[in-house]
Amino acid sequence: MSIPKQLMEEVQPALTTSGGKVTVVGVGQVGMACAFSLLTQHICSELALVDVAADKLRGEMLDLQHGLTFLRNVKIEASTDFSVTAGSRLCIVTAGARQREGESRLSLVQRNVDIFKGIIPNLVKYSPNCILLIVSNPVDILTYVAWKLSGLPKSRIIGSGTNLDSSRFRFHLSQKLNVAPSSCHGWIIGEHGDSSVPVWSGVNVAGVRLRDLNPLVGTPEDPDKYNEMHKEVVNSAYEVIKLKGYTSWAIGTSCAVLARSLLMNQRNIFAVSSFVKGYHGVDKDVFLSLPVVLGENGVTHVIKQTLTEAEMKQLQKSADTLWDVQTGIHF
Ligand code: NAD
Repeated sequence: MSIPKQLMEEVQPALTTSGGKVTVVGVGQVGMACAFSLLTQHICSELALVDVAADKLRGEMLDLQHGLTFLRNVKIEASTDFSVTAGSRLCIVTAGARQREGESRLSLVQRNVDIFKGIIPNLVKYSPNCILLIVSNPVDILTYVAWKLSGLPKSRIIGSGTNLDSSRFRFHLSQKLNVAPSSCHGWIIGEHGDSSVPVWSGVNVAGVRLRDLNPLVGTPEDPDKYNEMHKEVVNSAYEVIKLKGYTSWAIGTSCAVLARSLLMNQRNIFAVSSFVKGYHGVDKDVFLSLPVVLGENGVTHVIKQTLTEAEMKQLQKSADTLWDVQTGIHF
């Protein structure tokens, strides 16, 4: 008799699948930060990793598995074959090429579209009811690409968007006010990165709006120079990449909280890239970040923020720019 049979008696076969399976595609810096955050925050019960680099993939899987004794038990699998992802409720896509020297943005987009053609249909094939969370850059355009390639309803396609930019903003606010970032409230919406929009009218601490204390807050004329904070947000990624070569921990934790709200139907509100046609005068098929409610079916509601004319114009301008790039994509 084998040791397992001597040790324990089967009452019924163990389930082979569970409700909390997450796939991470791309085990680079960002993908592994996502995976690590998911594990340490106990967000998933199964984790599937996929990449084209087989050795790196197996190495990352083993390294995570060897730490499971110190965490809650999670079934971790990895393969270059997408069948490993079957039955995922959430698929996080971090795979992508980085910009080559002298390469245009459009050419990078097309290279990542070609990579996505090999990823997105395979994810949907094995997990037809999944939610896709796109992280690869340019994230707003690739979220649109994922929507087109997947055939999934718009509400199940989300880009990590400006959730990270909003977190950076709240961190800077917290440094200025010396209170915790989670107690500083403010939203960055629109395009992830350079042309993101800070909604100054809503920035508040405990419901006290900074704009009521200082009507110039966030404007170039503000003597307290709060507007510098948004510039720092925009520069954050460039600065971190210059210093350490890539960004990883903040985007990893950002994705983990999004995953928690989606998998556990927590209905938290986050600024993530979602289908925004019809909101704030946007009339194109584009994905941009607005505050949305995230539950087990993906995006359930879009929050109708009160925006100024200038903020709406900025959103519409970003939408037009994204649309111009999107019309050049070969599917
Ligand atoms: P990385 O180069 O470290 O990792 C990319 C991984 O993708 C590699 O392991 C590579 O083997 C894999 N890959 C490439 N083609 C693949 C394919 N066809 N199938 C499966 N895997 C494939 O890069 P990174 O630093 O992890 O960044 C990943 C992406 O995330 C980049 O596009 C980056 O710009 C983006 N990013 C986005 C945000 C955001 O806020 N949205 C933040 C940081 C980084």
